[in-house]
Amino acid sequence: MSKVRVRYAPSPTGYLHIGGARSALFNYLYAKKFDGDFVFRVEDTDIERNIEGAEESQYNDLVWLGVIPDESPLNPVEKYAPYRQTEKLELYRQYAYKLVEMGYAYECFCTEDELAEMKENQLASGVKSFKYNRHCLNLTKEEKEKYLAEGRKPSIRIKMEANVDLGFDDLVRGPVKFNSSDIGDFVILKSNGIPTYNFAVVIDDHIMEITHVLRGEEHLSNTPKQLQIYKYFGWEPPKFGHMTIIVNQNGKKLSKRDNNIIQFVSQYRKLGYLPEAILNFLLLLGWTPEDNKEIFTLDEAVKAFDPARLSSSPSMFDDSKLTWINSHYIKNLSDEKYFEFILPFLKKVEKLQDRDEEELKNIALIYKEEISYGEQIVELVSQLFKDSYELTDEEKEFVNSENSKLVCSLFAKKVENCEVSKDSLKNLFKEIQNETGLKGKDLYMPIRLKLTGVEHGVELYNIVRIIGKEEAIKRAIM
Ligand code: GLU
Repeated sequence: MSKVRVRYAPSPTGYLHIGGARSALFNYLYAKKFDGDFVFRVEDTDIERNIEGAEESQYNDLVWLGVIPDESPLNPVEKYAPYRQTEKLELYRQYAYKLVEMGYAYECFCTEDELAEMKENQLASGVKSFKYNRHCLNLTKEEKEKYLAEGRKPSIRIKMEANVDLGFDDLVRGPVKFNSSDIGDFVILKSNGIPTYNFAVVIDDHIMEITHVLRGEEHLSNTPKQLQIYKYFGWEPPKFGHMTIIVNQNGKKLSKRDNNIIQFVSQYRKLGYLPEAILNFLLLLGWTPEDNKEIFTLDEAVKAFDPARLSSSPSMFDDSKLTWINSHYIKNLSDEKYFEFILPFLKKVEKLQDRDEEELKNIALIYKEEISYGEQIVELVSQLFKDSYELTDEEKEFVNSENSKLVCSLFAKKVENCEVSKDSLKNLFKEIQNETGLKGKDLYMPIRLKLTGVEHGVELYNIVRIIGKEEAIKRAIM
């Protein structure tokens, strides 16, 4: 059997999306499970939509995730290169004309306007999906010359076979049916010499000896078109698997334009999500592991990976799950790794600018069990330094009660002469309890509300450590 070779083939029209990252990950798992190669190549023929820096950013994000390509434009293998489609336009042209010579494709001189009119007429006559009417299928030499003399440039269309089976056995969904008669003669090479996706992808997958293709469900209907091309060339197609769509919590397909959901890996990276957590989350988005196990390292995932368990029903993007997984990984970092990860975030808190590294580490540790992502520490700590805060009416009434005022003034007095440690603060509250007879919420909550404005958060002694004794006293009697 030939060596397994799979690929992730982004178009550099955007940054690494959750869906793309999932495809890349599952191709990677496939490669690693079966001792194969994972190829990163670039489908950049949609020139107007290409974005500067998108290829680099997609590649870097993949590497950051640990889904490291064995081959790419940066480390090509000569016999498979180039790895960018725009660098081999001449090759596609040659292959397209090979099909013309074999009688499987033909030049088409129809203009955009003529095609638009053809489409309009078909729709008006009740046809549901437009198919090219083969106007140019049997042009004579003279007709072609006439068009060329008019300045028209031909595109190349494939000549679809009539009524043949183009179905295949999908790695994810099992047998899928397609009939060639439902597909019109589509363009494989545009009049400007640029190949279309369905053509270039076949040439690339063939030349690069790709054996398996895992990609998004949106490509399912492209596959019979690609199979027709394989058939005409007499090439063996790879095995295809189309991963299910990702839906939001309302069951709707995730749209890149939906700003309510963060969908790009770089955004998560910036917010302080760990690569292991994102990977783990992506893993559960495409696959149902055995025993409902949820936490996997990449190596464990490779070992456990079984293509038969790729999910065949839509996967729900549950951001609370991602956050939960991320907090799990944060808690499991060694303190050293945690500091490395969190200090850049903590240093963003303006009010901590004058603290030394040791103090910052102490503060960071307070939040290790609390946070779900890096940026959250900035929010939580900054909140402690807000100039003012709003209490609810109920909370106001509570802190202004005689009991609360008493607790606060005793706290302010006692904390002045007390070192800030867990034990001494515990003793301090014990004393207040003995002196006032108050306990529980009545004892702690007035201070918490006065110091932070919120009812929950890290332990009180930690709050005093962070804001400092002086500030704590000021706020308690404010
Ligand atoms: N460039 C295509 C995309 O970004 C890849 C399709 C494929 O994997 O064949 O969707």
